[in-house]
Amino acid sequence: MNIPFLDLKRLNAPYEQGIAVAVERTIRSGRHIGGPAVEAFEEALSRYQDGRHVVAVSNGLDALKLVLRGYMELGRMRPGDEVIVQANTYIASVLAISEVGLKPVLVDADIKTMNLDSSKLEAAITERTRAIMPVHLYGRVCWDETMKRIVKDHDLLVIEDNAQGIGSESPLAGVDGYFKTGSLGHAAAFSFYPTKNLGAMGDAGAVATLDAELAAVVRALANYGSDRRYHNIYRGYNCRMDPIQATILSYKLPFVDRENARRREIAAMYKREVTNRAITICTVEPSTATNYHQLVARCDSRDHMRQYLADRGIGTDIHYATPPYLQPCYAGEFANTAYPVTDRLASTIVSLPIAPYLTYAEVERITEALNDYR
Ligand SMILES: *Cc1c(COP(=O)(O)O)cnc(C)c1O
Repeated sequence: MNIPFLDLKRLNAPYEQGIAVAVERTIRSGRHIGGPAVEAFEEALSRYQDGRHVVAVSNGLDALKLVLRGYMELGRMRPGDEVIVQANTYIASVLAISEVGLKPVLVDADIKTMNLDSSKLEAAITERTRAIMPVHLYGRVCWDETMKRIVKDHDLLVIEDNAQGIGSESPLAGVDGYFKTGSLGHAAAFSFYPTKNLGAMGDAGAVATLDAELAAVVRALANYGSDRRYHNIYRGYNCRMDPIQATILSYKLPFVDRENARRREIAAMYKREVTNRAITICTVEPSTATNYHQLVARCDSRDHMRQYLADRGIGTDIHYATPPYLQPCYAGEFANTAYPVTDRLASTIVSLPIAPYLTYAEVERITEALNDYR
């Protein structure tokens, strides 16, 4: 009995038939760009996301880029302005910032939360800092009292990278008094990459914001910069979500909370059952503060442990073994800075299977293997 890290066929199996019926309807509609299917998903995600304006877009990286470009078009940021983001994020967060001509400023992670260490935030702020991009990495809320105070004191924009966070809830209210990730900041980017907690069957993403003006700019930017047909007010992109992905996402969205609840149960089981002191299961309290997009464990002999699990047919992954600042594309860019906690995490973290379809027997097999590990 092999347990792959993630089996997308098995993940989508319960929805396959319903999706096929819905997609057939979309195919027969003859609308293949925009139209009712995309509008329906935008409305559904808006309801899920506290009534925010939602723009369905092509993927999570584009969603981040569009928000940043949108703020630049609105005059809230200028080329060369700085955006703070955590050093241990997925590279897309950093790419979005540099791509639009802004400057990513990395802040090291906290070893316990595995998220931005807000005690290091104040020191990273300069007169060119305009925004913080909290990344809800692994589905863990990246938002606390210190960050909230600094945002207010320095009048910063909060642009959430909610690619991994859908359905997580902060115990502390965001800038507008809401609690769900994706509703905490001024604007948020979502990814529906197939492995995310709400996964499409291809690439897809979204922008959510309370700011109607920003939403209108993002919508235009994603459609060649046009506010109406053949009238281009911005030098825009083509970053639209296609109706087939929108149809699939509308079908799956009502199930995301149930799947997240199942992930929480599985995480609690790992926490309860794994007693091997060489392995730390990194859970979160309260459990609603995460959707367990990933369940991360830490182990000093991580690579050895992964091989041991692989030999027993258990798949794992690492998110991420090489932080963005060490990637070749950023060589020289962050040369004078050190991110010791990010480095330490990169060499000790391992993501364990946490897919909502896992049976108790399967999780038990994994926890027993972890307990037998020497
Ligand atoms: C997946 C992901 C993205 C990018 O999303 P895509 O849809 O793959 O472009 C951005 N940031 C984080 C943290 C992610 O996990």
